[in-house]
Amino acid sequence: MQDGGRETEVELRRDLVRFGKWLSRLGFMPGTSGNLSVRLDEERLLVTPTGVSKYLMRPGDMVIVDLKGHLLAGTRKATSELSMHLAVYHERKDIEAVIHSHPPIATAFACAGRGLDEMLCQEAVMTLGPVPLAKYATTGTDEVAASLVPYLAGHQAILMANHGAVAYGCSVLDAFLKMETVEHLAQIRLVAHQLGSPQILTDEQLEELTHAKSKYVLNAR
Ligand SMILES: [Zn+2]
Repeated sequence: MQDGGRETEVELRRDLVRFGKWLSRLGFMPGTSGNLSVRLDEERLLVTPTGVSKYLMRPGDMVIVDLKGHLLAGTRKATSELSMHLAVYHERKDIEAVIHSHPPIATAFACAGRGLDEMLCQEAVMTLGPVPLAKYATTGTDEVAASLVPYLAGHQAILMANHGAVAYGCSVLDAFLKMETVEHLAQIRLVAHQLGSPQILTDEQLEELTHAKSKYVLNAR
């Protein structure tokens, strides 16, 4: 890391390669789908290129763009879903990295018109909180950013109708952990409902968990 805690460009390129590979092996980015980005500095983003398997991606494949999406450096074209990433950085100045992927169970919820807003397991409260479903938008258009904006301020991850999921955080690792948790919570919810007797957390339990979470956050500092 450089002075001030920000990772160097070399480290950030390596992060995008590492977590792209990981997401690919989890089955969240089949074919050439999915994309990752991270802030290089106040004005520039490092983003994954379009049309490349995230398992085979190399550090030199990344593209540098400004916050309006103009290409500044790189030999490839930026992801076609760049406007989604730009919307997150625009609305959330605290966010350093964005991941969009198609995790199968979470995407199935998004295709069934359902968010992950039911609080079933304690982990859902302790980590992500509710994951809302953004309304339908055609991929690659400005509709996508507009569909996400209402949810960006109050949530850590969002499902996108008939499409997939987006997660964001203070580092590529943080965004990755959130994306991994989205799929985990979708799996739990699916199976709990298949079993036929999902036990939704009560208001009292939710209050106690919220209290426990604030203690945990203080402890982890
Ligand atoms: Zn997509």
